Amino acid sequence: MKSFKSIRYRQVHLDFHTSEHITGVGSNFDEEQFISCLQSAQVDTINVFAMCHHGWSYFDTKVGKPHPHLETNLLPRMLDACSKNDIEAPIYITVGFNELSAREHPDWVAIAPEGDDPYGPPKSAGPEAPRSTGFDGWHMLCLNTPYLQYLLDYTKEVMERFQPVGIFYDIVGEYPCVCSFCRDSLKEMGLDENNPDHRKQLAKKVYLNYLQKTSELIWSLNPETRLYHNCCTEKMGEKQYYPYYSHYDIESLPTGGWGYDYFTSMVRYIRKQDFQYLGMTGKFHKSWGEFGGFKNPAALKYECQQMLAFGARICIGDQLHPDGRMDEETYRIIGEAFDGIAAKEPWCKDTTSVAEIAILSANALMDAEDSRTSDMGAYMMLEEGHYLFDIIDDSVDFSVYRIIVLPDCIRVSDALQRKLEDYIAGGGNLIMSAESGLRSDRPEFALDLGVEFDGKSEWDVDYTLVTDQLTGSLVRSPFLNYESGYKVRVDRAEVLAQSYRPYFNRRYGHFCSHLHAPAKEEADYPAVIKHGNIIYLAQPLFRLYRKHGVQLYRDLFLACVKQFISAPTVKTDLPSAGKVNLTRQSNGTDYVLHLLYAVPILRGDTQVIEDVLTLKDISVQIKLDEKVKQVMLLPEMTMIPHRTDDDGYTSVSVNLTGHQMVLFET
Ligand SMILES: [Zn+2]
Repeated sequence: MKSFKSIRYRQVHLDFHTSEHITGVGSNFDEEQFISCLQSAQVDTINVFAMCHHGWSYFDTKVGKPHPHLETNLLPRMLDACSKNDIEAPIYITVGFNELSAREHPDWVAIAPEGDDPYGPPKSAGPEAPRSTGFDGWHMLCLNTPYLQYLLDYTKEVMERFQPVGIFYDIVGEYPCVCSFCRDSLKEMGLDENNPDHRKQLAKKVYLNYLQKTSELIWSLNPETRLYHNCCTEKMGEKQYYPYYSHYDIESLPTGGWGYDYFTSMVRYIRKQDFQYLGMTGKFHKSWGEFGGFKNPAALKYECQQMLAFGARICIGDQLHPDGRMDEETYRIIGEAFDGIAAKEPWCKDTTSVAEIAILSANALMDAEDSRTSDMGAYMMLEEGHYLFDIIDDSVDFSVYRIIVLPDCIRVSDALQRKLEDYIAGGGNLIMSAESGLRSDRPEFALDLGVEFDGKSEWDVDYTLVTDQLTGSLVRSPFLNYESGYKVRVDRAEVLAQSYRPYFNRRYGHFCSHLHAPAKEEADYPAVIKHGNIIYLAQPLFRLYRKHGVQLYRDLFLACVKQFISAPTVKTDLPSAGKVNLTRQSNGTDYVLHLLYAVPILRGDTQVIEDVLTLKDISVQIKLDEKVKQVMLLPEMTMIPHRTDDDGYTSVSVNLTGHQMVLFET
């Protein structure tokens, strides 16, 4: 993969989607006020707009059309001001949404196949009908039409005229389409427009062609230009598209629909790829386009610290008022969020994350509907248990991990079977659940688990009773599984927990109480078995945890983890909402442990963070291969006392308000 210059840490994405029904666009733009806002907030990079979702441009373009009420040559003025003040300014160009192009070229508009959610406004909606918000209702342009050439011509103009440090394309991806161009293409390819798989095949081809054409053009003009194609619904494992990115931008406004765990899960996958990455949040209380919306400063600060702790550059989304004047209160709050980041950056650059467990991503490997739910359940349990872990696909080296987790629905191909067998032969351990581990083409296990697979349980729900082999705070009576497990017949495996069946499934003819029938007796299948280096959980425990949050499920899984890892690299009494991340510094000998703690709570329909409490005397024990010489709090470099015991654990005690970095020098 190509390598690019280091990306800066404190960025703003300045949205500017501006209706043609608004006048005086840019009339109050003032270089001094613009730069003073950015500098006061310590912003070092800002994405500025060439063309917005409304299709208008903010400069005297020859290819596109300037906004009809643009009162000044806004983009060049912004770029000049940034350049004079050493602020990098990548240029934003809309792709998928373009209202002007949709009006001028109705034949360029993508048409969703019958039965799919329609692109654009509902057919029945007149111009005065109240409009939906967010991403609904925008016309989607099809990249299999002459629109692609328009976009390329436009990009060429922007590149030649401004020589930007980067291009940020927005709203791209695989969009199945049955416009006249796509119907012709399907015919030419011998594909059937009524077949969803065929339409998907064309959508992939069209997207790949767009990626190739745009990146070829941009990098032929300047191979150092940063390039990102923003697709906010991307699944893990779409690696065929990565050669066309210079870096990865994890868009995830926690209160804008992504939630507080999207970034911290996605980053564990993206950091294993070969590029720099950013996290992108927003200054809004909720999401994009929210004029007058302000996020709690404590929340924004914590989100920035979290990105830094996981090795990401930080970008905060804002939207500029149409008159071009920056909102000074916004930049006061962004300034508070960025305060302290610069001092921490040197310990976050060019580091490698340490992980001893990997979740093999069901989302990356499988098309199963619930795959991401299962990944997220596994992610939550390991994060709340403060383990060091990555989320991976099947292309990475398994041997660096002590455990690989296969959540719920990972069927095993011949190639994956060989890779897993090699991993186990090398001393690796597997924990898998439900359908994971079954061959991709038939319902039998691809690996030797010492059991025979016997299909899905006939019960709607079942119960788990653990044996004394599993320790921790697990209850010693059968606990409920909201979805029953898969049946296996034990041959040579050790049973660590037994499934219990209910009296009967709940039906109108026979039911008991309000929910489900109580446990009656042992079912004819176990709940957890262990065979050599493999633990198998019969219930789809990961998606159950994601959906229901039952702590016992996490306790059960972490008790299984302890079967294989009795001495984890990091041990801490941080509360379950705390997060840890350990990075190896570029000198190869020092380590920085990031500790994070803040608790989002649901108020109204939005998760908010307001009170970031100080946790006193958090105990941290760390076991490194090298002997720890000294321990310091960063960025102040304050030495703190430490003690190393006979088991090789170095113990320290730290206070934590939001984010704390601890340097272990070896
Ligand atoms: Zn099309």
